[in-house]
Amino acid sequence: MSADPFIAYNRPGTGEEEACAAAEQIRSGWLTTGPRTREFEQAFASAVDAPAAVAMSSCTAALEIALAAFNIGPGDEVIVPALTFASSAAVVVHRGATPVLVDVREEDFTIDPRAVREAVTPRTRVVMPVHYAGQPCLMDELTSIAAEHGLRLIEDAAHAVWAQDGGRIVGSIGDATAFSFYATKNLATGEGGMLTLTDASLADRARRLSLHGMSRDAWARYTAEGSYRYDIVELGYKANMTDIEAAVGLVQLRRLPEMQARREEIARRYNQAFAGEPLLCPPRVREGVRHAWHLYPLLLSRGIDRDAVLAGLKGRGVGTSVHFIPIHFHTYFRERFGWRPGQFPVAEDLFARELSLPLYPGLADHEVERVIEATLAAAKAAT
Ligand SMILES: *Cc1c(COP(=O)(O)O)cnc(C)c1O
Repeated sequence: MSADPFIAYNRPGTGEEEACAAAEQIRSGWLTTGPRTREFEQAFASAVDAPAAVAMSSCTAALEIALAAFNIGPGDEVIVPALTFASSAAVVVHRGATPVLVDVREEDFTIDPRAVREAVTPRTRVVMPVHYAGQPCLMDELTSIAAEHGLRLIEDAAHAVWAQDGGRIVGSIGDATAFSFYATKNLATGEGGMLTLTDASLADRARRLSLHGMSRDAWARYTAEGSYRYDIVELGYKANMTDIEAAVGLVQLRRLPEMQARREEIARRYNQAFAGEPLLCPPRVREGVRHAWHLYPLLLSRGIDRDAVLAGLKGRGVGTSVHFIPIHFHTYFRERFGWRPGQFPVAEDLFARELSLPLYPGLADHEVERVIEATLAAAKAAT
């Protein structure tokens, strides 16, 4: 149908500088966790205003290790939004704790504080908000609920590096915040993650949990001053970051303001093009937040067949995605916890109507215009 080249849903923003940093790190002779990882942790902590940061192999690992660091396990309940990526619920199950799903807000797809309040029981220990698309959740409300009931806030900030809620940077708000550096994320190292903590005294334990529960890391064992001796002091994970990833991460962190400016520019253009279109509802940004624009989630009016629009976009040479298939629609979670369609109506309605358009720094202006034209045409054709 389209003679123009296909516009991929995502293309990583890593370039020559990142390639050089990775090559230089490999030539240095040190590959795994070491000084580069420490440098990245410090630079990241300072960028998000966090007292401490511990680098991990993924956001998923960071979430699970945060739960472990707060001793969350069997008998404990963790409140998770129904509209999120599977790992939010999976890490809770891996800890032997119980995920409790709650519905999200139609306005911005984030966890509904009223639903959180209703879901609290004497067993609740943690609320795990997800800053959907890069827009912070209602953190004031969630912080009050957590304080009232003595709960921990562990934030899934996979989309939200760069985001701010009022004057507070995401990463400095809740007890712990997990970031993702997966290939498609705003700051990408291929695979990788970061756990920030507002209580810096927990950082050593989180770091140890990320490396087998071992008393010394490789740097402390294999360098000239090192010793082979170590002790396994608790049951840990293998979730440390490599210095190669950290070298790439340092370049990406330096380039983040420039990459974010381009994301904001593209999002503004989409908003302008879709405003006033009766078939489409562009994302709404709350007053006083800085949106990280990881995703551009467009909502279709009820009655339009979303999958037909996706097919229409594909036919017009535009890649898209959907965020997210609700947790309770997945076979494993449904069978294990007995959740049924109909239980989280807002999440289900948003899932049925949402599509995510290409949004990344490397998207050229003429591609943005093609995405807009294709979206308008595909939505009209599906009505
Ligand atoms: C990408 C993503 C994750 C997982 O990140 P990894 O680094 O791949 O583990 C978790 N939660 C959300 C909301 C995500 O989008």
